[in-house]
Amino acid sequence: MQISNRQLFLNHVAQVSPKPMDLEIVKAKGVHLFDVNGKSYIDFISGISVSNVGHCHPNVVKAIQQQSETYMHLMVYGEYVQAPQIQLAKALTDLLPPNLNSVFYTNSGTEATEGALKLAKRVTQKTEIICFRDSYHGSTHGALSVMGNEEFKQAFRPLLPDVRILEYNSIDDVNQYITSKTAAVILEPVQSETGYTIASNEFLQAIRKKCNEHCALMILDEIQNGFGRSGTFFAFEQTGIIPDILLLAKGMGGGLPIGCFISFQKLLNEFTHNPVLGNINTFGGNAVCCAASLACLQTIQSEKLMDDIERKSILIRSLLIHPAIKNIKGKGFMLSIDFEDTDLNFRIIETCVKNGLIVDWFLFNTHSMRIAPPLIITDEEINQACEIILKSIDQTILVK
Ligand code: PMP
Repeated sequence: MQISNRQLFLNHVAQVSPKPMDLEIVKAKGVHLFDVNGKSYIDFISGISVSNVGHCHPNVVKAIQQQSETYMHLMVYGEYVQAPQIQLAKALTDLLPPNLNSVFYTNSGTEATEGALKLAKRVTQKTEIICFRDSYHGSTHGALSVMGNEEFKQAFRPLLPDVRILEYNSIDDVNQYITSKTAAVILEPVQSETGYTIASNEFLQAIRKKCNEHCALMILDEIQNGFGRSGTFFAFEQTGIIPDILLLAKGMGGGLPIGCFISFQKLLNEFTHNPVLGNINTFGGNAVCCAASLACLQTIQSEKLMDDIERKSILIRSLLIHPAIKNIKGKGFMLSIDFEDTDLNFRIIETCVKNGLIVDWFLFNTHSMRIAPPLIITDEEINQACEIILKSIDQTILVK
């Protein structure tokens, strides 16, 4: 008897939860996924904030095809002059203030976090890193160390020493705990895994002030927030502050794996000596990934995808009215729908998926539903998706 793909997946692909969704998707296009039975799903979470320009956007596909026919891997990061890397770095830094003028390419978000933490320690010669309650910056050891949730960390200790966790949005904590010992403060402008909690501008400005006062670096993680999802290209543009290091990944690649940390060239030059090769990788800035990323960036601009995010965000909020929905949090295409409890939320999510809509929960907020659509989604598709949510709530409550 032939073993099914599902069984082979369970047998041979390492698992991270006892109950994977295990949808068998065979094709993806725009905002839609198609499974092995031909059933279509609206991807209302963009593969967790990745497919900002939709799945298989023609511009991204074309860039990948062209670059993969030209060259793919040539040499480890940082040795050769490669046009796709340069063009992308130029396009990114053109969008940023003058102190964010140099890009270090990575393969993922967590690797960008690692590099940024190392840079902060190297530049400041200090070790204390400040992060915030229920923050998520990646799953490798350094990034895990600055995760603000003990439940997910305890099995992996010892982690980095000198990490202090403060309350998100607490200006009192910022004023009390950012001191001359602090090397860096790391946070997201919109904290994703708590259900898109927005940092107040006063809070961000207080951090900026304290970092300046104590020569600490302010690291902003826009791995989920960036590439248009907030309604501006970078969420920090709406805050009145400028970070010292900016982290990007996820939506950056248009569907291919790429990340980066961006800082001031003078700071990043510290990696060139004492020791030489202070931070390195093999595949960071892979030519095909950079070409895809540039196509993604240019598509967000040329198709003016950010112009409509705020209006569409309001549209989603206006459509999702139901007695079971307690609150809607977030901004732009980062929305969190609060239900009474985790059990109800999980059951509604399951029903949505059965009804052809992909939604999800949050790592540190299990009573809320994650909504993070591709930026290309149309009003009609939003209407369909919201109808499925409302129908799924009703079906789920009836079953109870
Ligand atoms: N920071 C944030 C805010 C994230 O959401 C994630 C991924 N969920 C990461 C960092 C880590 O990125 P990656 O999974 O690419 O390592």
